[in-house]
Amino acid sequence: MTLKEVYNGKEVNEVVELLHKYGSRAKVISGGTDVVIALRNEKISPEVLIDISKIDELKKIEDRGDHIVIGGGVTFTQIVESDLFLGNLLGLHKACKMVGSPQIRNMGTIGGNIANGSAAADSVPPLIALDAVVSLLSQNGVRKIGLEAYYHDPIKENELLTEVSFAKPKENEVLTFSKLGLRKALAISRLTLSSFVEFEGGKVKSVRVASGALAKFPMREVEVENYLTGKVLDEESVEVAIEKLKDSMDIRLKGRSTLPYKRVAISTILREALEEAMKFGEEVRA
Ligand SMILES: Cc1cc2nc3c(=O)[nH]c(=O)nc-3n(C[C@H](O)[C@H](O)[C@H](O)COP(=O)(O)OP(=O)(O)OC[C@H]3O[C@@H](n4cnc5c(N)ncnc54)[C@H](O)[C@@H]3O)c2cc1C
Repeated sequence: MTLKEVYNGKEVNEVVELLHKYGSRAKVISGGTDVVIALRNEKISPEVLIDISKIDELKKIEDRGDHIVIGGGVTFTQIVESDLFLGNLLGLHKACKMVGSPQIRNMGTIGGNIANGSAAADSVPPLIALDAVVSLLSQNGVRKIGLEAYYHDPIKENELLTEVSFAKPKENEVLTFSKLGLRKALAISRLTLSSFVEFEGGKVKSVRVASGALAKFPMREVEVENYLTGKVLDEESVEVAIEKLKDSMDIRLKGRSTLPYKRVAISTILREALEEAMKFGEEVRA
């Protein structure tokens, strides 16, 4: 297919109509950091490009009291510059701050990061740890789906990712993030880990741990979560948690050439993510 038309979308409903009309012949472009490369390398050849980068309603970050809603067109820079993602939501700020270069952060969006389906999408593990829900709008209405489940039932060609939302953490809850980048580790992929820990009486009341680039998709690390629940988060329990993660990686990545490297790398980043939570837990108790 050759590119015949570029639509500058002005509002969400108009985009949804275009997606319905053109189906697989159309491609949404937001920040374009992934799409432009794919076009240049002829990995995609849409007939119609639908530019959503100027749609204000997709570019809002909203504090709705008990929930935070991030529009699909919100850039990494917007997240980094927002006061909402400080304190016990610093994990998301950190993840977005560590994306690519300033130019990529200025252009790249949360919606694009999720919709491109990469296992190494940096904003995704913290959002999974927050139990975030994605809203996908089509002519059939809104489809809401948990972000981890989304990877098993991803965006369809007639859907627009309009927002991601999650419950605001309570005073005794914290989101942390850790990343091992390409340069630092001379690695094949960007490994990331995020934890969301709820403390009570000096112990972990509940916890969600999500990884990036440790499987086909970002995912929850349930063995680690099960082990840590009810424990005091200290050096000893962190070391056992690392072993639990290594055990599940041994099964999941059996026979892969990347396994030995990932086993080592994961110790550093899980330790960092959990130690950050540990520090917060000590402050909450003090
Ligand atoms: C040099 C470089 C460095 C990078 N570094 C990182 C990094 O460190 N960490 C990281 O996570 N990523 C990185 N990326 C990848 C990329 O920047 C991110 O995935 C970014 O979030 C993509 O967002 P975008 O708005 O540019 O998406 P686009 O390129 O516009 O779109 C990406 C895909 O998502 C679809 N899409 C976008 N928005 C929507 C929407 N609202 N609804 C439906 N579909 C949509 C598009 O159709 C396309 O399939 C890097 C890319 C480059 C080129």
